[in-house]
Amino acid sequence: MKRRGQIDVAVVGGGVVGAACALVLAREGLDVALVEGREPLSWSPAQPDLRVYAFAPDNAALLDEAGAWSAVRDARAQPYRRMRVWDAGGGDELRFDADALGRTQLGWIVENALLVDRLWAALPAAGVQVRCPARVEAMEQDDTGVTLRLDDGSRLDARLAVAADGADSTLRRLAGLEVAAHDYAQRGVVAFVRTGMPHEDTAWQRFLPTGPLAFLPFADGLSSIVWTLPDDEAQRVLTLDDAAFGRELTLAMGGKLGQVDAASPRAAFPLKRQLAKDYVAGRIVVAGDAAHVVHPLAGQGVNLGLRDVAALRDGIRAAQGRRVDWAATHRIERWARQRRSENATAAYAFEGINRLFSNDEMHLTLLRGPLLGLAGKLPPLVDFFWRHAAGQRAR
Ligand SMILES: Cc1cc2nc3c(=O)[nH]c(=O)nc-3n(C[C@H](O)[C@H](O)[C@H](O)COP(=O)(O)OP(=O)(O)OC[C@H]3O[C@@H](n4cnc5c(N)ncnc54)[C@H](O)[C@@H]3O)c2cc1C
Repeated sequence: MKRRGQIDVAVVGGGVVGAACALVLAREGLDVALVEGREPLSWSPAQPDLRVYAFAPDNAALLDEAGAWSAVRDARAQPYRRMRVWDAGGGDELRFDADALGRTQLGWIVENALLVDRLWAALPAAGVQVRCPARVEAMEQDDTGVTLRLDDGSRLDARLAVAADGADSTLRRLAGLEVAAHDYAQRGVVAFVRTGMPHEDTAWQRFLPTGPLAFLPFADGLSSIVWTLPDDEAQRVLTLDDAAFGRELTLAMGGKLGQVDAASPRAAFPLKRQLAKDYVAGRIVVAGDAAHVVHPLAGQGVNLGLRDVAALRDGIRAAQGRRVDWAATHRIERWARQRRSENATAAYAFEGINRLFSNDEMHLTLLRGPLLGLAGKLPPLVDFFWRHAAGQRAR
C-alpha cells in the first residue's frame, strides 16, 4: 500500500540503465520519478559518441516494448551480422554468423549518448516525473518505503528506490551496500577509425598478449575500436600523433582490415571488476554499474544492466498479474539473488577469458588458438555462446 504523497519507484541516475528503468516501469503503470545530477547527454549525428555498445537483441526488444527503440534505430544503430575472434599467437578463428544462427543480425552498435537522448525524450509521454539537475544527498527508510533528500532542497517518498547512479553510486553508499573491487591495471582506449578494407558488418576481436583489440562496425564505413592495454601503454597510445596511432593499430590488428587511420579524438577508461556484495538493502536496490562493473571484452556492461531492469519489470509484472504486492521483500530479494548470481558469473567468465588471452606464457599461447578453433567447429557451442550474449536461453 502507498502512503499519502508516496510514489511507487524513485530511480536515481539517468544514464542508459536508470532512464530505461524509469521508462519501462512507468509503462507497467507505476508512478515513477527519475533523479539525475546533470543535464542528460544530448546526441548530434555529426559528433559520434566515443562510448558505443554492442547492443544485444533482448535489450533492443526491451526498449522497443517501452517505445524507445525505433527512435534509436532510425537515428543510427549499426547492425552487426558477423563476429570473428582470433588469437594473435595463431590458430583458428571463432566465428558467429547471423545467417547460420537464423537471425537478420547479431545485434547493433549504438552510441551511449544516442540511447540516453532517445530514452529521455520518451520519459514525458510515459508520465515519468523528472528531477534534474538534482542529486541524492541523504536518505531514510522504514518497512514501507524510502525518503530521498535531494540537493535542491526537495524530497521524494517512494515504495522502492533503484540506485542506477553508476559505479561510484551515492545511493548504494547511503544504503550501506558494500562492493568488492579488483583493478585490472588496464584501460580501454576508444576511438573511431577508418580502415583500408570494409568492415563487412562484422565485429572483429583479436587477442594480443597486452589484451583484446576490438573493431566494431559503425556508420559511414567507420569502425569504433576498444583497445585493452596495460595502464602505462594506454597512456602512451593516447599521446601518439594520428599517423603513429594508425600505424600501431594497423600492426596490432595484424593487417586484417588493411591500413587503419585515426578518425576521431581518443579516450581511455579504467577497467575493473566491481561487484556489489548485496543488491538490496531494505527498500533500496542497485542496478547497472552501481551493482556491477565488468571487463568490456564481451561488450556486456550495459547489456547486463538492462537485464537487471528487464528482470525487475518481469517480477513486478508477474506480481501485478496475480494482484499481489510487487514490492514485497521476498520478491525483491528473489530478483536480487538471481541478478547477483548471473552478473557475478558473467564478470568472472570475462575475467577468465581476459587472463587466458592477455599474456604471452608459452603453454597458454599454444592452447589458445586451437581452443578458439575447436569452439568454432562445434555448432551447439557457438549457438550456446551467442544465445548467452544475446540474452536468450540456450536451447
Ligand atoms: C569511455 C567509456 C567507454 C565505455 N565503453 C564500453 C563498451 O565498449 N562496452 C560496454 O559494455 N561498456 C562500456 N563502458 C561502460 C559503460 O559505459 C557502463 O557500463 C554504462 O554506462 C553503465 O550505465 P549506467 O546507467 O549503469 O551508469 P552510468 O552511465 O554511469 O550513469 C549513471 C548516472 O547517474 C548519475 N548520477 C551519479 N550520481 C548521482 C547522484 N548522487 N544523484 C543523481 N544522479 C547521479 C550520473 O550523472 C549518470 O548520468 C564504457 C565506459 C566509458 C567511461
